[in-house]
Amino acid sequence: MKKNVKWAIVFGSVVAICVFVIIFGQLKSDKKGAEIYVDRKLYKAIDSIEDQETKSILIETENGWNRVCYGRGEIWVEEADCKNQVCVKHAKASFVGSSIICAPHKLVIKVVGGSGSGADAEV
Ligand SMILES: [Zn+2]
Repeated sequence: MKKNVKWAIVFGSVVAICVFVIIFGQLKSDKKGAEIYVDRKLYKAIDSIEDQETKSILIETENGWNRVCYGRGEIWVEEADCKNQVCVKHAKASFVGSSIICAPHKLVIKVVGGSGSGADAEV
């Protein structure tokens, strides 16, 4: 019984450390931007998706159009004229490295870390 308690404490500490690391990692990369690629080429770079008010941009290509909205650290596809609507139904992307893909339009939206994150990293 005593052994179980000990293991519970060890396991609890490990979980607590993991949670702390994840939260700290997110706080560190709080300045987020986004990059929008069409056909593997950079179509538009958004410096920050952290604004309180939601902004939207219309991406028109020969394949079709997507209305992309961003704000409060998230980016998503509000509407599009693609057949499958996968990008519209996709969850909002908010983590650095996560992306939304619209395969029919060859569109990729990627959340990236804010510019100059290496220079102003001192805490
Ligand atoms: Zn789509």
